[in-house]
Amino acid sequence: MSVRFENVSFRYPGGTGGVFDIDLEIATGELLAVIGPSGSGKSTLLKLLSGFAVPDTGRILVDGRDVTRLPPHERALGVVFQSYALFPHMSLWRNVAYPLKVRKIAKKERRARALDALARVGLADFAERAPPSLSGGQQQRVALARALVFSPRALLLDEPLSALDASLRNDLRDEIVRVQRGAGIATLHVTHDQEEALSMGDRVAVMHAGRLVQVAKPRELYDRPLNRTVAAFVGHANLWPGVVEAAGRVGTPLGLLACDTTGFANGAQVTVLARPEAVQPLAELPNASRPNVFYGLVNADRFLGAQRRCDLEVGSGIVRIETTIRTAIHAVSIPPEAIRLLPPDSTASQNPAHTGKPS
Ligand code: ADP
Repeated sequence: MSVRFENVSFRYPGGTGGVFDIDLEIATGELLAVIGPSGSGKSTLLKLLSGFAVPDTGRILVDGRDVTRLPPHERALGVVFQSYALFPHMSLWRNVAYPLKVRKIAKKERRARALDALARVGLADFAERAPPSLSGGQQQRVALARALVFSPRALLLDEPLSALDASLRNDLRDEIVRVQRGAGIATLHVTHDQEEALSMGDRVAVMHAGRLVQVAKPRELYDRPLNRTVAAFVGHANLWPGVVEAAGRVGTPLGLLACDTTGFANGAQVTVLARPEAVQPLAELPNASRPNVFYGLVNADRFLGAQRRCDLEVGSGIVRIETTIRTAIHAVSIPPEAIRLLPPDSTASQNPAHTGKPS
């Protein structure tokens, strides 16, 4: 039940957009979330897997079978769209059973399998109801049951939560992951919501300009982004331009920062990453000597409920802080271990170690 893209490229006829050199594997039971800015190629990847576009070069394998040129209906893939696309006049079980009807399964078995699929998404008691009497979240669970009812070879999730309220979205994230795990099925999940990708994906793929920039486990992606594009796109980030001045020392607009410079020569141009929640706010300069302590002036201070987000002017740079501390902030300490140096984007994205093999 695995999915493989082997060196797949596709350019829209007459245009310049598409996807290029996609090497990606989704293991059996794995949920791979794909994120990237608008126009980065996420939908095109889905179209290629589902069969609504055919690669110019490369192959797509599902369960080891070459499906590159098969029409969509012969690929046996379950799909959940943003719009639930349920038949409003049909009961839930008939909606869920529809793919079985298309496959000419006998009615008795259709009903039994539909009820079983509805039970998997917690809606067994609603089998005779019609979709309009359900909430958006419930309708999307029906769509998930319908996508899985015929034991597809892989599952495609196309922005499945975008149409739902924030509170419902969180519940449904957990629900989808639970059902997907239960089904043990390779899943490609396209979303523009990076928090959704980080919380649901076994691995997350970041796309940019039609290419995969990095594919990694959520924490690895967040803690060790490969380049500036990924760091800026995944989570919030302080990103300062820097120059390695000596081993363990980088010049930045804030001043000299102590951090690990392994792998970078003296004089190398770098981007310096520090996540806002890793920056420690201080009410005053500490007595004991600590590395990377800077005085500054707060120029923006936003209360966000659980957190507070501040921008501190330090030297000719800005340090963004995310903290639960509510008292006045006059300085920051940036722990050296919370700092990562990133190379210029163009060299990092060519590193083959960061493309799509499951671990
Ligand atoms: P995403 O889903 O990440 O927003 P898409 O896969 O839709 O990105 O688009 C990738 C690239 O292909 C973009 O440059 C987009 O402009 C281009 N593109 C998408 N659909 C078409 C189309 N039907 N014809 C021509 N170009 C397209």
